[in-house]
Amino acid sequence: MAVKRTVKLEQLRNIGIMAHIDAGKTTTTERILFYTGKSYKIGEVHDGAATMDWMVQEQERGITITSAATTCAWGDTTINIIDTPGHVDFTVEVERSLRVLDGAVTVFDGVAGVEPQSETVWRQADKYGVPRICFVNKLDRTGASFEYSFNSIRERLTPDAVRAQLPIGLEDQLEGVIDLVEMRGIVWKGEDLGASFEYVEVPAELKDEAETYRAELMERVAESDEELTEYYLENGELTTEQLKDGLRRATINNQIVPVFCGSAFKNKGVQPLLDAVVDYLPSPLEVPPIKGTDPKSGNEIIREPADDQPFAALAFKVMTDPYVGTLTFARVYSGTLEAGSHVVNVTKDSKQRVGRILQMHANHREENVACMTGDIVALVGLKDTTTGDTITTPDSRVLLESMEFPDPVIEIA
Ligand code: GDP
Repeated sequence: MAVKRTVKLEQLRNIGIMAHIDAGKTTTTERILFYTGKSYKIGEVHDGAATMDWMVQEQERGITITSAATTCAWGDTTINIIDTPGHVDFTVEVERSLRVLDGAVTVFDGVAGVEPQSETVWRQADKYGVPRICFVNKLDRTGASFEYSFNSIRERLTPDAVRAQLPIGLEDQLEGVIDLVEMRGIVWKGEDLGASFEYVEVPAELKDEAETYRAELMERVAESDEELTEYYLENGELTTEQLKDGLRRATINNQIVPVFCGSAFKNKGVQPLLDAVVDYLPSPLEVPPIKGTDPKSGNEIIREPADDQPFAALAFKVMTDPYVGTLTFARVYSGTLEAGSHVVNVTKDSKQRVGRILQMHANHREENVACMTGDIVALVGLKDTTTGDTITTPDSRVLLESMEFPDPVIEIA
């Protein structure tokens, strides 16, 4: 097929942002969309056709209720944010979205630390082996404590949590963060959206603390890999490059959960968090290939994440949209598909045609001629498709590993 790839698979991240309600998931997501987008403005409601309707609806209801996906770019990396609802009533939706993402950012309230729903979503992510990084948010709040929050993560969620940053200042004195991998400070000038930041030396009064925690991070990374262990034992330390690469591997392998911090609301820490998504969470090539079964023989089929494999995608959300009709959000696990192609819904054993392929951005929809391995797209034209269904080309059927998805379609007013 003559479909040309524009984004390298290594430079793709399919992530979710998970949190207890009110920890700041929406604020963090909005800031990410701001920093990765050019024209998106917080608080501005765009005209219907061009807007992601779910954002408007969510703003009205005040909680995150849907599980759509938004595509954005950070440097050379394309990031698909799969929206994981934070409200406890929607744990099935959380599970559904966890199924299709490759990594997650877990957001915590820097005053409250781990809260009951943080535990719920954490256990769900454990179930699917989703690699995670943590973001201790709201460090500008009175009573905020990075240490308290960090310890609650380590004690209540995972002993594998390790500090990757430390805050510089706290509460209304929050100035920035220390990056323990690169051993440098990142300090903001101002608190507004456009505020600039600069890299600085680690402040003298925090140097000892930073060195202690960097040593701990290094030890944990060294322990995660035989070659690194050997180097570490011989040299007493790792190089920064080894530390960074090792942390990436250990995070992807669920051996380490690095913890970052800041205040999304005060626009401090979100750009380094985006760097961390790129640096430490996996591309579709770095997660185990998806398994499925041959619908006729029941034999196991493994689909490698590659464009030259037969097309296979999993529908994870069906929405009706007043402008386009039914949107079927799907994760492409292998192969490519051009708009206008005939496909089969293997789960329902029905022939279908994909009329259009859309990608949702913060403030516009993009119509694509095709979708490729790793992509998260909205397919238009599928009938009788519900969440959890497998979509393939007619001559290469596979039933992808799926889970029970109870509720069917969300109507958007
Ligand atoms: P969600 O329920 O997890 O999506 O949380 P929201 O993003 O809606 O945030 C809940 C409340 O906390 C809102 O009033 C936000 O303005 C506020 N908030 C979010 N992030 C921060 C932060 O970094 N600092 C402070 N002080 N407030 C924040």
